[in-house]
Amino acid sequence: MELTAGFEHFVRTDEPLAPYTWLKLGGSAEYFAEPTSVDELIAVIKRCREQNVTARVLGGGSNLLVSDTGVPGMVIYLHHPSFCGITVQGNRLTAGGGAKLSHVVSTAVGKGLAGLEGLAGLPGTVGGALHGNAGGNGVDVGQRTVEAQVVTRSGEIVTRTSQDLQFSFRQSSLDELVILNATFELESVDSSELTRRMQKFWIVRKASQPAGTDNVGYLFFDPPGLSAATLIEQAGLRGTKVGGAEVCAEHANFIIASSDASAGDVLRLAELVQGRVKEVTGMDLKCQLVQW
Ligand SMILES: Cc1cc2nc3c(=O)[nH]c(=O)nc-3n(C[C@H](O)[C@H](O)[C@H](O)COP(=O)(O)OP(=O)(O)OC[C@H]3O[C@@H](n4cnc5c(N)ncnc54)[C@H](O)[C@@H]3O)c2cc1C
Repeated sequence: MELTAGFEHFVRTDEPLAPYTWLKLGGSAEYFAEPTSVDELIAVIKRCREQNVTARVLGGGSNLLVSDTGVPGMVIYLHHPSFCGITVQGNRLTAGGGAKLSHVVSTAVGKGLAGLEGLAGLPGTVGGALHGNAGGNGVDVGQRTVEAQVVTRSGEIVTRTSQDLQFSFRQSSLDELVILNATFELESVDSSELTRRMQKFWIVRKASQPAGTDNVGYLFFDPPGLSAATLIEQAGLRGTKVGGAEVCAEHANFIIASSDASAGDVLRLAELVQGRVKEVTGMDLKCQLVQW
């Protein structure tokens, strides 16, 4: 049977991935699914499993480097409203894996629920954030997560409760194919005070990111107790370019890609930075971007 048979209304072939990523580069997905329901999601996952086709999930594309030669197999995009809902019950907020983290943060703050405001300004989706336990300023998304529903590679829906959830620095035990939704336990506080707190976090985060450009990627994990940006600056690498990829001069742990940049340029620049930082500071930097 054709991989796409019966799925023609939500699976496309040869879909360019650059527009879905922050770096805006790289090739196409062999197959690209935008399911409109959980049933369609599961059906496509099961079909991939039967036909031995690799499936991956695309979130907000803020941590992805797509190969210039494209991505074989199926890329699943959870953009339909069925995967982006946000509901609040008492102190618990549940959000779909495809929901934007920024919407989750502003919804929580609007309801006077504290605990996620430190993530204000962090790009991407709930699924992407939980996959890599995104965070900063001493806060990460895992700290408030009490439950998550996932879909396994064989198409089974499983609920992970606090006992099975483990989060550490930019790492998460949620490594199943799809994070379908997550529930956060928050604290009820005064909403206007909380709004001010969120705005402060937002301003601090925006000031630590390149402004005025979309074609940007966050390059390296901070080594324990250190800042990757400071190490890159110490190695004298601000503004260093390889092809169309450049180390941001103001915020050295970001890479800026020009419209003619390739994924190869980004990789070569990342290697150059790793090599120079090692030479000058003795430290090993690990790339944060997920490579497809
Ligand atoms: C300007 C900028 C600033 C950033 N600042 C920070 C920061 O301060 N702290 C930080 O930690 N990161 C930061 N990042 C990196 C990035 O924003 C985070 O890693 C973010 O959580 C990625 O989410 P996403 O939805 O964009 O995931 P994507 O980039 O789409 O995907 C990343 C990974 O998550 C997986 N994934 C995505 N959705 C799902 C899902 N529903 N189920 C299962 N797996 C899924 C993908 O398969 C992939 O492996 C920054 C990036 C940029 C561009």
